[in-house]
Amino acid sequence: FHSSMEPLKCGKSDGSETYDGSNEKPLCGSDNNISPDLLQQLVSEALVWSSLHGLVVGDKSVQRSGTVPGVGLVHAPFSLLPLIFPQSNWRQACELAPIFNELVDRVSLDSKFLHDSLSRTKKVDAFTGRLLDIHSKMLEINKKEDIRLGLHRSDYMLDAQTNKLLQIELNTISSSFPGLGCLVTELHRSLLNHYGKELQLDSSRVPQNTAVRGFAEALAKAWNEYSNSSAVVMVVVQTEERNITHGVRTIRRTLAEIDVEGKLLPDGTFCVGHHTVAVVYFRAGYSPNDYPSESEWRARLLMEQSSAIKCPSISYHLVGTKKIQQELAKPNVLERFLENKDDVEKLRKCFAGLWSLDDARVLQEAMERPELFVLKPQREGGGNNIYGDNVRETLIKLQKEGSDGLAAYILMQRIFPTDSSAFLVRDGICHQDPAISELGIYGAYLRNKEKVIVNDQCGYLMRTKVSSSNEGGVAAGFAVLDSIYLT
Ligand code: ADP
Ligand code: MG
Ligand code: MG
Repeated sequence: FHSSMEPLKCGKSDGSETYDGSNEKPLCGSDNNISPDLLQQLVSEALVWSSLHGLVVGDKSVQRSGTVPGVGLVHAPFSLLPLIFPQSNWRQACELAPIFNELVDRVSLDSKFLHDSLSRTKKVDAFTGRLLDIHSKMLEINKKEDIRLGLHRSDYMLDAQTNKLLQIELNTISSSFPGLGCLVTELHRSLLNHYGKELQLDSSRVPQNTAVRGFAEALAKAWNEYSNSSAVVMVVVQTEERNITHGVRTIRRTLAEIDVEGKLLPDGTFCVGHHTVAVVYFRAGYSPNDYPSESEWRARLLMEQSSAIKCPSISYHLVGTKKIQQELAKPNVLERFLENKDDVEKLRKCFAGLWSLDDARVLQEAMERPELFVLKPQREGGGNNIYGDNVRETLIKLQKEGSDGLAAYILMQRIFPTDSSAFLVRDGICHQDPAISELGIYGAYLRNKEKVIVNDQCGYLMRTKVSSSNEGGVAAGFAVLDSIYLT
C-alpha cells in the first residue's frame, strides 16, 4: 500500500506558512519545533495508519465511490496532531450533553412552542414549512412517539476574548462523524505513542473517544425496545453516500427507494421489502437537496406515521433548527422546559448572542458592524451562513423586499476563537496554517414512555479549519478532523 502512494509533499496554501523549520510557534502544547524530517515521517505514518484503519471516505473524484462502497477511497482530511484544549472547558462541554439531551426531548413534546416559534419562518422557508406540515399531520392523527431516540451533537467554540465556551449549534439530525472522529482520536494517540518523546506529548492526554460505541449502543438499545427480533435498523442514506457505516445490523436505503419499497401496515408496522423496520436512522433528509421530488417527502411522511423509532422524529428534527436555538436563548424560555435551576444556568452560560431579525435595534447594529455577526438560514450541512459585508448586503436586500424574508434567518454573535498553528493533511498533502477549531460533543438519549434508558455524553469531534475560512464542515471541504490534547 505504502509504495503505491504519491510522494509526500508539505505544500503551501494561500497565506499559509511554508514549513521550513523556522516557525517559532508552539506546536500542540509544547514549545518544541518539529524538524522537517520528523514532520515527513509523521505525515507518512499518519497516511499509512489511515489507510490500514479505515480513516477513509469515498473520493469525490472517483465517480463510482458514491454508489459502490469500498471503491475509490481516500483518507479523510485530518489534522496531524491533536489540538490543545483546556480540561475545564472539556468537562464543561461534557456536562452539558445530558442536559441538552433532556432539553431536546422536553421541547419536542411542546407542539405549540414549536409551531409558534416557527410560524413566521414557515411562511418564507419552504423546507422548514414542509417539515412543519408533517408535524401538523402527526398532531392531527394524534401520533404519539413512546420510544424516542436522539443522537445529537452540540458544537462549541472557545471565544478568545472572554475565554468562554460558546455553543455554535445543536444538531439533532445526521450528527456526523462519530466513526471518523473516533478514528482520528486513535490516530493521534498512536502517533503520540510512537513519537511522544520527540514531540514531548503524552498520548494519555488525548481523551478516549466513545462516540461510535455510544451511538451504536443507543441504536441497539432502541432496536431492543422495539421488541421484534427479526426487525432491522434502516439507515436512510443520500443517493451518493460517501460515508460508510458499520457495526449494527442494518439495511441502507435512499428516501426515493423507501418511497418505492416502503409499506405501512394497518397496525403501524413499517416494512421495506421483506424487512420490518425497528429503527430509522437518518443520515440524509436534513437538506432540501435530499428531497428533489415529492417521492422523498412521501417517504418521510410514511415513516413518520409508522411505529418505527425515528432518529430523529420530526419533532426532534424541528428542535434542532436554528430558529428554535434562537427562541430557547430568549429570557425565561429555558425555564419552561427544565425545572433544575443549575441546569438552566449551565445551558445559558454557553449561549452566544442570538437574535431574531424583527429586533430593529439589532438589525441596525448588524448593518453597521456586520463583521460581528453571522446571518444564518434554517439549513444544515455547512456552507449556508452569511458573513462580513454580505451580512449588510443581504439585510438591506431583505428589508427592501419586505419584512417577511427576514424571518427565514437568525442573527448570531460571531465567535472568534484563538488561532494556533496546525498541520492540516488533505489528499496526502500537509499544509501548515493558522487554524481555529470547533469542538462537538455527542449525546445519546433513549427513552420509552417515562423510563429514560440512555442519557449520556458519548465522545467528541474536533474540527479544525484555516482561520481565514468562515465556514466549518468537513464534508463541505472547509475543515479537517481533529482530536484534543487536554491541558
Ligand atoms: P450547520 O448546521 O450548517 O453546520 P453551523 O451553525 O454549525 O451550521 O455553521 C457552520 C459553520 O459556520 C460552523 O461550523 C462554524 O465554523 C461557523 N459558524 C457558525 N456560527 C458561528 C458563529 N457564531 N461564530 C463563528 N463561526 C460560526
Ligand atoms: Mg448543523
Ligand atoms: Mg454545524
